Amino acid sequence: MTERHGQHFLQIPGPSPVPERVLRAMNKQVIDHRGPEFQLLGEEVLAGCKSVFKTSGPVVIYPSSGTGAWEAAIVNTLSPGDKVLMAETGHFSTLWRQMAAKWGLDADFMPGDWRRGADPVAIEAKLAEDRSHAIKAVMVVHNETSTGVTSRIGEIRTAIDRTGHPALLLVDTISSLGSVDYRHDEWGVDVTISCSQKGLMLPPGLGFTAISDKALAASKTNKFPRSYWDWQEMLKPNAAGFFPYTPATTLLYGLREAIAMLLEEGLDQVFERHHRLAAATRAAVRAWGLEVLCEEPSEYSPVLTAVLTPPGHDADHFRNVVLEKYNMSLGTGLNKLAGKVFRIGHLGQCNELVLMAALSGVEMGLSAAGIPHRAGGVMAAMAELESRDGTNASPL
Ligand code: PLP
Repeated sequence: MTERHGQHFLQIPGPSPVPERVLRAMNKQVIDHRGPEFQLLGEEVLAGCKSVFKTSGPVVIYPSSGTGAWEAAIVNTLSPGDKVLMAETGHFSTLWRQMAAKWGLDADFMPGDWRRGADPVAIEAKLAEDRSHAIKAVMVVHNETSTGVTSRIGEIRTAIDRTGHPALLLVDTISSLGSVDYRHDEWGVDVTISCSQKGLMLPPGLGFTAISDKALAASKTNKFPRSYWDWQEMLKPNAAGFFPYTPATTLLYGLREAIAMLLEEGLDQVFERHHRLAAATRAAVRAWGLEVLCEEPSEYSPVLTAVLTPPGHDADHFRNVVLEKYNMSLGTGLNKLAGKVFRIGHLGQCNELVLMAALSGVEMGLSAAGIPHRAGGVMAAMAELESRDGTNASPL
């Protein structure tokens, strides 16, 4: 590996770069997690999370990655052999399905082509057929990080409601929370799963579950064993700002600061900024003559854009060239997309100039790696940003 010069550009779709302000907030001595100073911190972050998830109910914070929060959602609400409905949207929905299978759930995995989100019509049809209400949960990934496709959770809720089916709705917002409009209460989501290292702009290490009353009721009768993940164990001390075991204090300092940053900018402004950057990225991709993986404009991800390289041109070779020559990390193609796509992350603290630098690196990298393309993507992105000057632009 050659010595790389200057600032590294971390343009993968998470972990996202941690803002200086958050880094400084975490640069503190560890405190007594049973003492009054911690209690204030605990109360503040537990309340602050509610604003970001848009819920009045509890949000449990685990020292875990997002995968742990997936498991917490399953073991607190479901029972061995339960039937669940899942949508194949990409690599992460596939991994979640594998976890469900390992827990002995009977998953109906609705096939998808990894270029579109979960289909509300198909979910409605499956639930309408299920007259005995054997399906206990619908499990959807909001933003499929492997494909750059965002599923329409509000529409999925409406579709479920049309059937009158009582299944729980479990949603993975691991790469959307804090970047894409999301409404736990309004959309009647029962468990929202998330983590720290993407839209929340923190290092990896925190997992979240936001819990509806219905999910909480399910947790009182469901049969999966759990101990570390048990909501009841968490909620009791959480009521006073404490945790049942040693919390990740340093990350909680960062969480407090990150929530403050999101609320100061305003969640709507944060979401609009992500839409603007995503639109500019797509404008660049089209000008290069390359293809955006997502096929449905209403499902374009505001968080990342997955770009197909022309057949016969290895996307990972291109990524390596960009890393070596320009010191920028782009996301790799995962699973069946390996070598076929690269992913440009534009989430978290990303702004116009960071994006323009990243797109310049991509355009120069396309030339350096010999990927057939047209010049002018960077100019097209700039024109797109100028046409949406951030004050009155409409999303998408
Ligand atoms: N779900 C989605 C949508 C993800 O993007 C990821 C990770 O990138 C995960 C789940 C797994 O999260 P973690 O790697 O934090 O365990």
